[in-house]
Amino acid sequence: MGLFTNEIKTMSDLHLHVLQDIYYAENQIKKALPDMIEKATNRDLTAAFRAHLEETEKQIGRLEQAFKLLDKEPKGTTCPAIDGIIKEAKEVAGECDNKKVLDAALIAAAQAVEHYEITRYGTLISWSEELGHDAIAKLLTTTLNEEKSADKKLTTIGERKVNMKAAG
Ligand code: FE
Ligand code: FE
Ligand code: ZN
Ligand code: FE
Repeated sequence: MGLFTNEIKTMSDLHLHVLQDIYYAENQIKKALPDMIEKATNRDLTAAFRAHLEETEKQIGRLEQAFKLLDKEPKGTTCPAIDGIIKEAKEVAGECDNKKVLDAALIAAAQAVEHYEITRYGTLISWSEELGHDAIAKLLTTTLNEEKSADKKLTTIGERKVNMKAAG
């Protein structure tokens, strides 16, 4: 379902569209994280990425539960935003040859991902509540909290461990 095909007529259609968007995005994140784990050198950073990969798998499961609550098959719709964020991350990482600088670049890229997810889940939670899908709002709130703490953890790792070393 694209935004320009007039297939989105109601708030329910739009809600489902964004659910499909974040389902696609989470699956792309799941595919991208192993590469980021491999590239990261700071131990806290690799541990944080590993933990978030596990969380991402659970988040995909929660989205599948949300589709089920709507009597819909889990399905993704291409999200050009996450594709762009991941593409940019790969490009920048490919250009870093200093390992400490690479860690800082990976943190920045991962935080761009978390912030995208935070906006999507925030919107979906509001719309789920407005549309009376309280069970979905509850599921997605658990995920939103995980995204927020992943973001905070990355800030801490960046500020305490990585950025100083990268600066020399
Ligand atoms: Fe996520
Ligand atoms: Fe999107
Ligand atoms: Zn879209
Ligand atoms: Fe995340």
